[in-house]
Amino acid sequence: MDRRRFLTISGVGACGLAMHETGRQAAAGEDAMDWPIPFPIVDTHVHFWDPSNLRYPWLDRSELLNRPYLPADYIAAAGPVEVGRIVFVQAACIREQAMEEVAWVTALAADEPRIQGIVADAPLELGAGAAPVLERLAGNPLVKGVRRMLQGEKEPEFCLQPGFVEGTKRLGQAGLSFDMGITRHQLPAVTDLARRCPEVRFMLCHIGVPDIRGGQLDPWREQLRDLAALPNVYCKLSGVATAADPQTWTREDLRPAIDHVFDCFRFERVAFGSDWPVMLRATPFPRWAATAAWATAECTAAERRRVFRDTAESFYGLGGA
Ligand SMILES: [Zn+2]
Repeated sequence: MDRRRFLTISGVGACGLAMHETGRQAAAGEDAMDWPIPFPIVDTHVHFWDPSNLRYPWLDRSELLNRPYLPADYIAAAGPVEVGRIVFVQAACIREQAMEEVAWVTALAADEPRIQGIVADAPLELGAGAAPVLERLAGNPLVKGVRRMLQGEKEPEFCLQPGFVEGTKRLGQAGLSFDMGITRHQLPAVTDLARRCPEVRFMLCHIGVPDIRGGQLDPWREQLRDLAALPNVYCKLSGVATAADPQTWTREDLRPAIDHVFDCFRFERVAFGSDWPVMLRATPFPRWAATAAWATAECTAAERRRVFRDTAESFYGLGGA
C-alpha cells in the first residue's frame, strides 16, 4: 500500500486505525533509510516460479503470488539493497516436477550468475530409496541442499519416522544440507532429528515461525534455544515480518524475536534471507532488509559480515567457500 492511499483509509479515525497509522508512519521512516551494509549481501531464501511452466497448487490460493516471479523482478524488488549472491529454495511445485524445477533454475542461473545455490525438494521419507535422487542432485554443482517441506505434515513427528531419519542421514553422505521448513509446533521434532543426524548440517527457515502476531513467543523461545544448542544447526533470519501482523507490524514488534535468535545462535550461525516473493504478503524487500540491518546496528563489522554474507557462503559452500 502506498502512503497516500493509506492516509485516505486511516482518515476514519477509529482507535485501531490510529494505531495502524502510527505503524505506517514508522514504516515510511524505515523505508527512507540509506542502505547501510557496505558490501554485497547473500540472500539465503529466494523463490522463483512461473506458473505456466510448472504446477504450484498452493499458488491457486494467492492472488498476489499467482504470477511469474523471475530474477529480473527480484533485482527490481531489492531496490537499493545490493545482493551479490542468491540461494534459490524449492517453491513447492508438485513432487513429480521437482527435478524439472532444479533444471529450470539451473538454466536461470546461466543468465543470472548471482544465483549460486539451489535447495531442492527430495523425498527423504523414502530412506534408502531416496539415494538415487540425492545422487542426481549432488551431481549438479549448484545444488547445495534439500528442503523436504514439513510444515504441511499433520503428524508433528513425521520427520522422526525411521525412513525419514535414514533419508536425512544420507544427505550428509551426499554432501548436502537440510533446510527446515516447519511450523513452530514441529520445533521439538526437528530438534530430535538434528540430534540423531549430527553429521548433517541443518538450516532453520524463518526462525521457526514464532507467534509474533499473537504476541506469544513461548514456548518458541525455549524450544529455539534447545535447537540452537546443537552445533550442526543454523538459522535463517527470514520470514520474520510474515510471522507478525502483515498490515501493522513495526520493526519494534520484530525485535524481541530477532534478539532471541542472536542470543541463541550467536552471529556465527545466523544468515540473512528474504523469502521473496512470499515476503510481499507482509513487506517490500527493502523494508525487511532495512529492519534486519537496524537489528544488527550495534554489531561489530565482523559480526555483520557473518550475518549478511559469510555464514551463508560457508554453510552453502557458495563461490568455492
Ligand atoms: Zn520461502
